[in-house]
Amino acid sequence: MCNSVHVRDRKNAETRPWRSLLWIAIAGLIFGVLGLGQILEDVLRATRNSLHSHHASGDIVVVEIDNIALQKVGRWPWPRRYHAQLTDELTRAGAKQIFFDVHFYGATEPAEDLALAEALTRSGRVTLAVRGPSRTGGEVTTNEWPLPVFESNAQLGSINWFYNYQNAVWSLPYKVPGKGQDLPSFASLLSASPGAVNDSFRVDYSLDPHSIPRISAANVIAGELPADLVRGKDVIIGTTSDVTGDMYFVPGVGQMGGVFVHALGAETLKSGKPVDFGWLPIFFLSLAFGAWLLWSRTDRHQLRLAGAAVGVLLLGPALLESRLIFVDITPALFVLLVTAGVLLRRRFRKRGLIDQVSGLPNLTALKSHREGKDQALIVARVLNYAEIVASLPANSERQLLEQIVTRLSVGAPNRVHYHGDGGIFAWFDEPSKPFGQHLDALYALFRTPIRVSSMAIDLSISFGVEIGSSRSLANRLGSALLAAEEAAHDGLRWKYYDPDSLQDASWRLSILSQLDEAIDRGEVWVAYQPKVDLKTRRIVGAEALARWTHPEKGPIAAAEFVGAAEQHDRIGKLTAFVLDQAIAAACDLGGNSGNFNMSVNLSGRLLGDRKLVGRIAILLDRYGLKPERLTLELTETAALAGSGEALDMLAQLRELGVAISIDDYGTGLSTLEYLKKVPAGEIKIDQSFVKGMVENRSERLMVGSTIALAHSLGRQVVAEGVESREALELLAEMECDFAQGFITGRPMSLDSLRRRLFSEQRSKVA
Ligand code: C2E
Ligand code: MG
Ligand code: MG
Repeated sequence: MCNSVHVRDRKNAETRPWRSLLWIAIAGLIFGVLGLGQILEDVLRATRNSLHSHHASGDIVVVEIDNIALQKVGRWPWPRRYHAQLTDELTRAGAKQIFFDVHFYGATEPAEDLALAEALTRSGRVTLAVRGPSRTGGEVTTNEWPLPVFESNAQLGSINWFYNYQNAVWSLPYKVPGKGQDLPSFASLLSASPGAVNDSFRVDYSLDPHSIPRISAANVIAGELPADLVRGKDVIIGTTSDVTGDMYFVPGVGQMGGVFVHALGAETLKSGKPVDFGWLPIFFLSLAFGAWLLWSRTDRHQLRLAGAAVGVLLLGPALLESRLIFVDITPALFVLLVTAGVLLRRRFRKRGLIDQVSGLPNLTALKSHREGKDQALIVARVLNYAEIVASLPANSERQLLEQIVTRLSVGAPNRVHYHGDGGIFAWFDEPSKPFGQHLDALYALFRTPIRVSSMAIDLSISFGVEIGSSRSLANRLGSALLAAEEAAHDGLRWKYYDPDSLQDASWRLSILSQLDEAIDRGEVWVAYQPKVDLKTRRIVGAEALARWTHPEKGPIAAAEFVGAAEQHDRIGKLTAFVLDQAIAAACDLGGNSGNFNMSVNLSGRLLGDRKLVGRIAILLDRYGLKPERLTLELTETAALAGSGEALDMLAQLRELGVAISIDDYGTGLSTLEYLKKVPAGEIKIDQSFVKGMVENRSERLMVGSTIALAHSLGRQVVAEGVESREALELLAEMECDFAQGFITGRPMSLDSLRRRLFSEQRSKVA
């Protein structure tokens, strides 16, 4: 199964959330402490209030000193006899209590003051307003009290409150300190709800102020008070005119006389005791939720959950507020929104860093991996990836990728694999680790075909390792890729990146342009490596291997220049040269007498060249060598797959009488079907299997079964890369036909081979 990124990229995901959470917490606290969300808080609460708006009890009636009343009397403040008249009328109408939200500070006309004092005495149920200490924008004014003559005939209540930037009063006090005595607020008195000094409560603005019964003072003075309006009810008298100025902002409604705020406060207390939790509890709750989201690995749902939490936060308090439980939500909202922002950013970053087909982090993600600096970088390159994908049914590339990653994960299930286009996989590992064994094992795993959509697919893979350096990850990735490529060309399973080869990279580019001239200048020559019959232990042939001794660089590895030439389809001239030399050498070494056979490497790519058969025929003819004395070892066989033209060419070569051998068997395309199709009389088991055979049982089995399979198909088998006597004996036991390797002789000059043949002609190699 394909490894999901969030499971694998645990290390990254675990270090970051702490930092994000810390910053979110600090910013949220600052936001909360400074009250930066106050405006929004007010708007949100007013909006919520409209969701559970309800009516006042109707037990408190407001008598408005409105514009009509002001017009009727003609001036403000009114002569106090009018207030006396109001008191008398309301008392007569049966009001339970009468509250004056009007100031009676200082003396006026004695007759006026007396009229009011007498009315207060007659009524015996009047509460007068005391203002202060009040604080508006930090200013503290002294207490203001009604005249002593009024005070002695009435109860006193506080009309003190704080209002905000909007001129809105969100909370009212229960009781304030007065002159030697604590004064309950109007709201507290009206609702008969005592409370502690300086303790305050939130006004429930979901109460509709328009549902409070009201009457203009003009009507009361005119004696037009409806009979039942105030009977048994509490009455509060106050100004509700722009002219007098005592106007406040009632959230969700607009400007109203302050008297309504007292009435609403009283109504609030009548319906219960409000509880205010402030912003901290919800803030910490949302912080905990945010932390959970940041750590959560269910990537897809995180944002949805954050959205849901925001929704709950916006609407949930309405439920609490309808039960008079008040909370401030903006700091919590801030935390959730910033958390959602972090998650969103993380998701976008990931999206750009994830391969859409495999779901694995891509190479851009690899290049920005911070911890990768101190680790070794390993690259696996599937060499025939493009061909495989081209032959796959639609939509099955992901299956293929999953299977590749499953194999790469063997022994390291938690490793993060990065995936690049064209069959590139990369990962980081401990730099001190010996990689050889692990990569050998991975290589072996890839020998078994991968099954995708009931197709068996042979993968050819190579690995490159960059141990670690101070260079950028982009450079290191390039180097690891280069090493993987070189490994493939050198017939190796894996290769360490060699810093010197950086220079070589540019050198390699110039190889091609120099090769043809080098052949003409005589810098290129042919070495011959003896091939031994394992039954007779005699040299029965040799493989011609191209050598280039550069005047400045010295000997250049065949894999280097042959690989470059093959890749750029410039192998023709070199092949013609080697064929010419090798056929001449074969004649020189014994011609058609004996059974000496000369092998020449032939790149599968050349099988597209129609003139090839003719040229070989001409050469054989020129030197007079029998075609059966020449074996063509097919290399770079991938190009051969499914190509009818190439198979035709092979058939023509067979017709000519030349022997065909499949070189490096086991590394590239080596399905049974392929083996049957190619008219090769011989296969050469790749040296990578032969080398590991002595130590490794599974390699031994592989070599043994390949020999048996080849024999059953009537093919002969050459084991190449035979370095030890042990291997040689094992191969003989397995009935392998021929051996070639350092134990049979290193590639040598024609002269050396000639001497060796003559001096050892009758002696066994081992
Ligand atoms: P190959 O055809 O598989 O040749 C065998 C390679 O293994 C040779 O490397 C040889 O030197 C090396 N070798 C032989 N015995 C041993 C051993 O016991 N141990 C080890 N470690 N190596 C051993 P060389 O000469 O570097 O050639 C590499 C490859 O280059 C050849 O692999 C062949 O694919 C290609 N090549 C060489 N000459 C030509 C040529 O003229 N034409 C073409 N098309 N390819 C050539
Ligand atoms: Mg060969
Ligand atoms: Mg070979």
